[in-house]
Amino acid sequence: MKIILANPRGFCAGVNMAIESLERSLDLFGAPLYVYHEIVHNKHVVERFKNRGVVFVETLDEVPEGSPVLYSAHGVSPQIRQESKARNLKAIDATCPLVTKVHLEAVKYAKLGYTIVLIGHEGHDEVIGTMGEAPEQMILVESVEDVEALDINPEKIAYLTQTTLSVDDANVIIDALRKKFPQIANPPKDDICYATQNRQDAVRKLASKADLVLVLGSQNSSNSLRLAEISTTMGVPGHLIDGAAEIKDEWFEGVETVLITAGASAPEDVVQECISYLQDRYGASMTEETIREEDVTFPLPKTLRQLLPESALKVVR
Ligand code: SF4
Repeated sequence: MKIILANPRGFCAGVNMAIESLERSLDLFGAPLYVYHEIVHNKHVVERFKNRGVVFVETLDEVPEGSPVLYSAHGVSPQIRQESKARNLKAIDATCPLVTKVHLEAVKYAKLGYTIVLIGHEGHDEVIGTMGEAPEQMILVESVEDVEALDINPEKIAYLTQTTLSVDDANVIIDALRKKFPQIANPPKDDICYATQNRQDAVRKLASKADLVLVLGSQNSSNSLRLAEISTTMGVPGHLIDGAAEIKDEWFEGVETVLITAGASAPEDVVQECISYLQDRYGASMTEETIREEDVTFPLPKTLRQLLPESALKVVR
């Protein structure tokens, strides 16, 4: 058996920043430390922090008054910020700057009187946060059918997208929007982030060389799910797994080449564990194929930087 290891894969700049923010906050404040929603959508990352005294909450009521609270990489709505202020919480905002960019676009279009169509997945933390910026003026669509069902005819209309969509799926929906609303505006730069696009491009480029694709990531990770879907759509079965323990022997019947990749929130150690499993069990050899170099980094949140000593900032990625 041959393994092709896709690159880029795994942690993106936003996830690195969010995890580093939580690490530094734990050092500063100690446990228990509260995080609003999962810091990133990955079972291993969340479990490891839980074991160190981090408490992930779904509502701010669960955070004692005056305590520090971190916002996850997926961002929060202005309503949560207000609630946090009212409860005198010390908020540390680990929202990925590329999610914040979409929030700012929503605010800008809303101020200019636009109706905003957000392409995204209902119930996803990022979508809830973005919709909260202008709830009266935003409509969520998930499919072409949703676009066809839109019963609006505004003079000013714009679209935005969730950062972790499938580029191909989003384009189909955007085409339908443009057809129905030729005047529709959009931001100058794509909302689907560089990390999502690069990981998807790697699967698109490399899956045809494989008989099977393993994507490391959790079931609630939007960008990981898209990677498995892309390979399956290409005719190469893609399985989304949290780790080697979920690998099933029956997947490998007649399989000579396996492509391994990982979603933006999946840690590298679970990828390596998977490779070791296939090497031990099937004597697999491995080559790594890089389709693009990434060198994006984001600074820690300002509130956190202000609290950290100078020496600690020097080692910030
Ligand atoms: S996947 Fe993209 S938007 Fe999400 S945290 Fe990573 S860089 Fe930011």
